[in-house]
Amino acid sequence: MVASLSPIPSSAIDRVTTDTRNAALDALKRYFGHDSFRPLQEAIISDALAGRDVFALLPTGGGKSLCYQLPAVLSDGLTVVISPLIALMKDQVDGLTENGVAATFLNSSLARDEARKRYAKLFAGDYKVLYVAPERLMLSGFLDDLRQWNTCRFAVDEAHCISEWGHDFRPEYRQLAELRRRFPDTPFMALTATATERVRSDIVKQLNLRDPTDYVASFNRPNLAYRVEPKQAVFRQIQKFVNARPYESGIIYCYSRKSAEQTADRLRQEGVEALPYHAGMTPLQRSKNQEAFIRDEVKVICATIAFGMGIDKPNVRYVIHQDIPKNIEGYYQETGRAGRDGLPSECVLYFSPGDVAKQLQFIADKSDPQEREVANDQLRKMVHYAESSHCRREVLLDYFSEKWPEDNCGNCDNCNQPKETFDGTVAAQKFMSCIFRVQKASGFGVGINHIVDVLLGSRNEKVLKWGHDRLSTYDIGGEHKRAEWQYFGRELIRRDFVFQDSEAYGALSLTAKGVAALRDRTPITLTKLPVSDNALQRDRQRSSGGIECDEDLFAILRSLRKELADEQGVPPYIVFSDVSLREMARYFPTNEEKFSEISGVGYKKLEAYGDAFIEAITEYIIANPDARDEWS
Ligand code: ADP
Ligand code: ZN
Repeated sequence: MVASLSPIPSSAIDRVTTDTRNAALDALKRYFGHDSFRPLQEAIISDALAGRDVFALLPTGGGKSLCYQLPAVLSDGLTVVISPLIALMKDQVDGLTENGVAATFLNSSLARDEARKRYAKLFAGDYKVLYVAPERLMLSGFLDDLRQWNTCRFAVDEAHCISEWGHDFRPEYRQLAELRRRFPDTPFMALTATATERVRSDIVKQLNLRDPTDYVASFNRPNLAYRVEPKQAVFRQIQKFVNARPYESGIIYCYSRKSAEQTADRLRQEGVEALPYHAGMTPLQRSKNQEAFIRDEVKVICATIAFGMGIDKPNVRYVIHQDIPKNIEGYYQETGRAGRDGLPSECVLYFSPGDVAKQLQFIADKSDPQEREVANDQLRKMVHYAESSHCRREVLLDYFSEKWPEDNCGNCDNCNQPKETFDGTVAAQKFMSCIFRVQKASGFGVGINHIVDVLLGSRNEKVLKWGHDRLSTYDIGGEHKRAEWQYFGRELIRRDFVFQDSEAYGALSLTAKGVAALRDRTPITLTKLPVSDNALQRDRQRSSGGIECDEDLFAILRSLRKELADEQGVPPYIVFSDVSLREMARYFPTNEEKFSEISGVGYKKLEAYGDAFIEAITEYIIANPDARDEWS
């Protein structure tokens, strides 16, 4: 059975008795400080509490951890979480500990003594949650230990790693099948953010899940604003963008290691704290830079795609792509690292047709024809995303076979500032008849640049050699600039009037639709070439779900958070999320009761940090007696 985003399936609601429901809500506030569930969380949790197996596919930021952490709090026994990301275990355990949930992890990074201590506490039943990597399961005696520790549930995180059909297959994950055989009666939860239909059924089969409800949430990330900008002097564009957001963290994805280094260097020269991250660095350098980012010591990471898997930082406010990604799936994953905390965040792609040409060349150099075909197809879809005048969200979701139900998402450039169009019938006629004439005269197809050369009356070598200066379409396109003709040409390709043969150096020919349009003079509306305007600021104000607050107080609370986090050696977001701080800077809580109403404040955090934050807020109010009025 597939449960869709909303409403929660009635069968699931029936199963939830009012008691478990209230207990779950109480624990949600008491431990995690949240007032309500994210989509599907409640249904997943109630299934888990009922002892059922569960499969859950939630997008990044959907709140997967809570789906097993909350049942763990409400169950007798130990919840064992299997995760491949050793680097994240400490973070997760720190987070749980801060929330008053007894948790630990076992992995190869621990000193002997420390591991021994943890074992002793596991035997004493002192923990609710244990994180382990899959290889640990095969250590001799470990499965027997799990039984002695009264394991009541297994949660398999990143469950797609079990499938060879997935993009991140890890052979160690296959051992989980054995785990299932040894614990046939213990409920399993499988969670992932990425899985095709095929990978999904593979996960269910490999883990031998018993009649699991398939929870699949929408891939839409409402708080992410998408935008594509023409790439011109890209460093200046990035610099301007970053400088406009001096207190916010962001990731800049770059095509090569070299450009990641260069962008980081230049940003530093211009006074922006930025560090590179790529596969050419030593593991030590890499983890140092990552750590600095997670701890809010540098704002910007310039990375190749190698960056991101191992981080959970919830307050990444923007993701910039300096170059076009190879495919939509990768783009979705990378932009998905922004805004996990649900606050408005921006995803900007700097697009230049020249980058596409470069990529096409790389692809043409590959030897395997099938690989070429797949890569070309993926790149075509990516270019379509970049150049389409449709809603960006719609195009992204369409890639995952999800229909976006609305005309206007209100949170992408194309919806907020629709591109200008014009009656392009004449331009389209000129462009297409030029393709037709060249083909007829020479008997072969030529690329887009040559067609534009002919239209603009160029006297370059090829035009003259092939006699294309004698065609009737020679020099008839002076009313548009070169970049405009190229842009129109690409739109005609995208809309299937013209075919571009990537196996023949991008030679153009007319499709049947193009031939008909040329013959019938079908009216065609074309999009005007956008001029680069940095209208992000406007977008940001409109974007959904933000928490407006007193920015000065927010800044004070942020530095208090950083101080407290450093004292304890944890990342700032383990102390409080940006959501919590923004709510504090909006509602000015000055006593414990008010403070505990803030999202993210559970009993443990109230105890640990309440006084410090209440004091800072009170001081601020004394110094700025009018500040609060604006928000009441
Ligand atoms: P995922 O693993 O699915 O990417 P996480 O479990 O890391 O997502 O959660 C992402 C963020 O959302 C975290 O900062 C978490 O505290 C927050 N979160 C999760 N569930 C809720 C909820 N019900 N209400 C508010 N915030 C939540
Ligand atoms: Zn849109």
